[in-house]
Amino acid sequence: GEVELVGAVGHVIDTLRPMANELGVEIALTAPEEPVQVVGDVDELIQVFSNLIENACKYGQTGKRVEISVSGSEPGGAQVSVRDFGPGISKEHVPRLTERFYRVDVETSRAKKGTGLGLAIVKHILTRHRARLMIRSDLGEGSAFIVKFNDEKPGHLSPTPELYQ
Ligand code: ATP
Ligand code: MG
Repeated sequence: GEVELVGAVGHVIDTLRPMANELGVEIALTAPEEPVQVVGDVDELIQVFSNLIENACKYGQTGKRVEISVSGSEPGGAQVSVRDFGPGISKEHVPRLTERFYRVDVETSRAKKGTGLGLAIVKHILTRHRARLMIRSDLGEGSAFIVKFNDEKPGHLSPTPELYQ
């Protein structure tokens, strides 16, 4: 079917707002006026955005923002980006983040509950959607997880997240 990304992301934000409030995190959304349609399964994509936004709130910094942006189909395809201002993730962990049960073993994430399955599910769903997950993270600066749809360039449909910059 068709999924409208601005509405789907807005729905996830509404659902997670109580958790964000409890953590002292403000969620900000930037989105175009016009709808952004992609081909996909709405329940699965909601699961993707829930996982990414929940992680950003959980591992982000109390009192800081989580910035979400949805952008439209031109020029390079629709994308959704979820950015936090938490401790960030060091480069050696990035390629393993989407492995089942993998959690970064630092005090900051050890203290938070989780099974380490969220990003494995995200990867699985996005691969089925021909979408790509990109991660940019700098220690001390925070992290950005970007979902890029219609990523059909041969060799760029990577099953693991990529560092880009
Ligand atoms: P689950 O999602 O199954 O409840 P989880 O959040 O630990 O558990 P994932 O969502 O797969 O599992 O994330 C894996 C690990 O990646 C986390 O435990 C955390 O260490 C790290 N991580 C994920 N997102 C972020 C982020 N935004 N900032 C810092 N570390 C992160
Ligand atoms: Mg998670």
